[in-house]
Amino acid sequence: MAITINKIEAVALRIPFNHWAPSPLFGGQPRTTIDTVLVKVTASDGTVGWGQIYSGGWQAAIAALHDWVTPLVQGADVNDTLLQERVERILQNLGRSGPVIHAISGIDIALWDIRGKIAGVPVHALLGGHKRQRIQVYASLLQYGGSVEHVSRNVERALKRGYRQIKLHERTADTVFAARNVAGADIPIMLDTNCAWLPESAKVAAAEIKPANLLWLEEPIWPPEDLTSLAELRKETGIPMATGENASNELEFYAMVRAGAADYIQPSATKVGLTALWRVCQEVETTGATCVPHAPYFGPGYLASLHVLAAKQRESALERFFCDLAQTPYDTTIPIADGWVQVPEGPGLGADPEPDLWRFKA
Ligand SMILES: [Mg+2]
Repeated sequence: MAITINKIEAVALRIPFNHWAPSPLFGGQPRTTIDTVLVKVTASDGTVGWGQIYSGGWQAAIAALHDWVTPLVQGADVNDTLLQERVERILQNLGRSGPVIHAISGIDIALWDIRGKIAGVPVHALLGGHKRQRIQVYASLLQYGGSVEHVSRNVERALKRGYRQIKLHERTADTVFAARNVAGADIPIMLDTNCAWLPESAKVAAAEIKPANLLWLEEPIWPPEDLTSLAELRKETGIPMATGENASNELEFYAMVRAGAADYIQPSATKVGLTALWRVCQEVETTGATCVPHAPYFGPGYLASLHVLAAKQRESALERFFCDLAQTPYDTTIPIADGWVQVPEGPGLGADPEPDLWRFKA
């Protein structure tokens, strides 16, 4: 008898964090907590799987989950690999991106957890097995608003904690050179501008930053859909480009590769689901590009990204927001230490969220 989806619950969390500086902006507002939505899916045999929904605006994601997605997936076979696509098609005129797609993606992650638990194997085994047993982690510094002092101090802090790759969320050349100065020549540094510039300004800024020898420049151009300008910037400057966290379906990632827009393609597990993330990784890595999942997540999205990084062809590092949380999910079960994390070998994603987290329920 088929094992089916019995119950779907959402748990919104707001976890305070410290990044050793004034609050960064997110969505135009000061960010004082890391907010996220976990999805708990209970199967008809009692197996529980955990997923995570991208949740800059978690109220909208929860409404999409409850009102639109849940009625369509309840009772479905947990092994139905076409479920995600079917639900997307039914809901296509409610949004091809944003909360609807993110909610479907959260359930997709939970179903992989359930399938692994039922089979008694880790998710990476369902993806063909791990190609490596530990994954390097890069420190993804939050925004310091152009402060050379905060950037320098926190690059130093990340190095002291064992990280050997650093990403900045800044927009100025002097912060990048300050980071390079602290880190030395051998530490890979990435710069994520979150779509800071129009194409002509991007050329000026990229030329200025080029001597810092970035591993990649991430989303330098607004809007992120302007692949022609990104391809041109990549060609003119010779700086490796990264993009993809704003894309919501597989075809967009393949278009980035076809346009010659990026060296690093960044699908996000909690925005597109584990199924699509895995397929995109496999596909783009046959073209010479490298898939580096967008993964500033602490919940099941972190674990989903970890399994994909373990199983995919090319080795690449896992993103981690560099801050201290009031409580770090999986801190004891799947910890990051000295800039590395062991690939989980337990069934499913490898660990469930700790009940202590519920004190941060929104
Ligand atoms: Mg980014």
